[in-house]
Amino acid sequence: MQFIISCMKLNSILLCLASIIFLPSCLLATDSLNVEQDSIDFKLNDSTITIVKHVFGKDSIRFLSVHDDENTGVSAALEFMKEHGGSLVELQYGNERNIKFNLKSSVDKCIFDPNGMFTDTGAYRTLDKHARVTPEAVKAIRSLGEKVLETYNYDSLGYVITLHNNTEGLYSIRYYLPGKMMDTAASKVHINPRLDIDDFVFVTEPYFFDYLKKKNVNVVLQSPDAPNDGSLSVYAAMQGVPYVNIEVQDGHVKQHRELIDIVAEMMKEFLKKP
Ligand SMILES: [Zn+2]
Repeated sequence: MQFIISCMKLNSILLCLASIIFLPSCLLATDSLNVEQDSIDFKLNDSTITIVKHVFGKDSIRFLSVHDDENTGVSAALEFMKEHGGSLVELQYGNERNIKFNLKSSVDKCIFDPNGMFTDTGAYRTLDKHARVTPEAVKAIRSLGEKVLETYNYDSLGYVITLHNNTEGLYSIRYYLPGKMMDTAASKVHINPRLDIDDFVFVTEPYFFDYLKKKNVNVVLQSPDAPNDGSLSVYAAMQGVPYVNIEVQDGHVKQHRELIDIVAEMMKEFLKKP
C-alpha cells in the first residue's frame, strides 16, 4: 500500500510499472550459482587421494581444505560461493585427518598429516612423527603437496585462504598465548572474550592482523620465526604469499560463514587487482 502511495506522490505511473516489472529480475539475481566440479585421482602407491575442485561462477575468491575430516568449513564455503562465486579445492581420502599409504618397497604403513607436506623439512617431520620415514616417502608426499597447490592455482593467485575445523577442548587460539604449546608460532594474538576461543583467523601479514583486530575477530599473526612444520602457512610465508586460515570449531557453520564474509571483504580491500 505504502509503495503505491509513494508512487502516486511522484505522480509517475510509469515508475510504478517499471518497479513492478523489475521485481522478478531482482529475485532472479539472488538465485544460487551453479557449480562445476572437477576431480583428479592422485596415487600415493596403493592409496588414492582425490583432489576435488568446485567452481561457482566467476572464480573470484579461492578456498582450500586439506583435512578430509573437517567438513564445516567446506559447507560454509559452498554456501558462500553459491551467492558470491569462487572456487574450493578439497582433498578426499576417507574422512580422516591423516593420510596412510604403503611404499612399494615395504608393507609398513606411512602416515602423515597433509598440512605438513608443503616443505621438505615438514614432510620428513610429519612422516617421522606418525610412523616411518624414508626419502622415497618424503618425495611422494611432497609431490602430492605440489599437485594440490597446482590445482588450487597457487602461483596465479597472490594469496591463500585455507579452511580448517577443530574439536572443542583440543585446540584453540589460546594455544598461541605466551607460555602455551604453540607460542613460538605466533607474534601477536587478539582475543575477543565474547567469542568462542575455537573460532579464529590465523594470518601471516600484519595488515591482515590489524584489519581483523579492528573487526574484533579472534586473530593470530604468525611469527616470522614459526617452526618449519611443513604447513601451508609456513610455506606461504617463505614464498612471501599472504596467507589466511579460517579456523572454526566443528559444527559452527554459521560462525565459519561469518568469518568467510569478513575475510572476503578484507581480500577486496587489500588485494585489488590493477
Ligand atoms: Zn585442519
